[in-house]
Amino acid sequence: MKKYDVVVIGAGPGGYVAAIRCAQLGLSTACVESWINEDGKPALGGTCLNVGCIPSKALLDSSHHYHHIKHDAAEHGINVSGTTIDVNKMISRKAKIVKILTQGISGLFRKNNVDWLKGHATLKSNSEIQINSRHEDHDEETAIQANHIIIATGSVPTAIPSASVDNKLVVDSTGALKFNEVPRRLGVIGAGVIGLELGSVWNRLGSEVVILEALPDFLSAVDKQIAAEAEKTLRNQGLDIRLGAKVTGTGSNNREVSVSYEDESGKQQLTVDKLIVAVGRKPNTEGLGAEQCGLELDERGFIVVDEHCQTNLENVYAVGDVVRGPMLAHKASEEGVAIAERIAGKPGHMNYETIPWVIYTWPEIAWVGQSEEQLKQAGIDYRVGSFPFMATGRARAMGETNGLVKILADKKTDRVLGIHIFGPNASELIAEAVVTMEFDGSSEDLARTIHAHPTLSEAMHEAALGVDNRTIHI
Ligand code: FAD
Ligand code: AMP
Repeated sequence: MKKYDVVVIGAGPGGYVAAIRCAQLGLSTACVESWINEDGKPALGGTCLNVGCIPSKALLDSSHHYHHIKHDAAEHGINVSGTTIDVNKMISRKAKIVKILTQGISGLFRKNNVDWLKGHATLKSNSEIQINSRHEDHDEETAIQANHIIIATGSVPTAIPSASVDNKLVVDSTGALKFNEVPRRLGVIGAGVIGLELGSVWNRLGSEVVILEALPDFLSAVDKQIAAEAEKTLRNQGLDIRLGAKVTGTGSNNREVSVSYEDESGKQQLTVDKLIVAVGRKPNTEGLGAEQCGLELDERGFIVVDEHCQTNLENVYAVGDVVRGPMLAHKASEEGVAIAERIAGKPGHMNYETIPWVIYTWPEIAWVGQSEEQLKQAGIDYRVGSFPFMATGRARAMGETNGLVKILADKKTDRVLGIHIFGPNASELIAEAVVTMEFDGSSEDLARTIHAHPTLSEAMHEAALGVDNRTIHI
């Protein structure tokens, strides 16, 4: 039986990054991956590359260009007529990007001598794994041994009985990445990250989008002021966001879907051409053999781990969406690196306090650290500095004046406790905030840092000055 220092199960951003880092550190490493694409071919990259982060951003970019050309170009004196969208071309561009990136990972595996084992892995013990593979003409079962096992089996969309996915008219996030035409009326269940991003894609392309959200507050985990700004702007863009609207049932014929939901005024009905179910994701441990080998799961199905991603089984670790913490690709990858380094005897480190969050609507929403509400709840005294993009030259020049940067700093020590952005390119701007917090920086550090002019980052600088009431441009 072949034996490795490390076997990683799953090749999403948690698993493939862990495998590469293990191999870089001189450990003999294999990565087992069961993903099969629509064309029947195996692929690396997991949810993130195949049906998550990357394809959704490809469609967000395409739809952003379309919308910009159609609605904003004239303001720049650019007259474009007859703008149309070729949905099939947009979808095949997305598929090409996915293919290049997933093939890139197989190149990285070759370069680093990571063995890609194609098939489904089941834990037999804390040192033995069974792999079931499908070939054209036969199925195969093999077994391998490992000194260390890293589980990175990710997550899958949550299903709700009131809206069962048929992947024709009622789709999950994967189905919503491959519509072959723009639905005239689109319903989305769930105003979370995925619902808002996919709703935005199709709204920009012309769909009438209604988003039904069971909770009464919009983006309840986001700083309230930022969420309120975002809600106002997204509604202005045409997203019909209905809060406190709990979906109770759906029915579809071959043409349209009727959605029943309840809000504070009682029972409601909505008819749409397509419905996206985006009510969250759940950890994926299907067929992993957790029960048989005594791997502990919590009541929601997550693999139980300590702060170093160690499970209850010796030498078995788990990272990414299948364990507690935010379901984000970069969180999965950093856990993967930290674990690889600990296995190699190095001090692997993961700072859960400084994980950035991004929602890729336009403008984008990004934050790191605590919100104003969380600070209040924890009884921490803080000062706030904020600055609207409207007052920066670059945002004006770009015609992107919506949004603001908000910095929360400890009242006594001035240490930055949270930075929240709603604005153009917030996904890029948040990096400065993360670095500041990672270095335990103060708002004064940011205020004394020279920011290039004219840039969007000047809003960060001015917000930092604002903590001490000394903004210049407002
Ligand atoms: P996954 O990426 O889910 O990978 C797990 C892999 O394990 C899969 O390839 C699966 O086939 C394999 N596997 C499972 N069980 C077995 C087994 N028993 N044997 C062999 N292989 C197995 N996150 C962001 O940070 N930014 C974004 O912009 C973003 N956008 C998203 C958009 C959408 C539409 C979706 C759905 C998700 C998005 N996410 C985003 C979330 C992100 O995709 C996940 O957080 C990330 O993929 C988690 O990585 P992972 O390695 O834990 O698991
Ligand atoms: P996220 O977990 O960020 O992907 O968001 C999923 C969203 O879906 C959450 O805000 C949930 O409140 C919402 N949701 C879950 N079930 C329902 C339902 N039956 N009707 C409407 N919204 C729902």
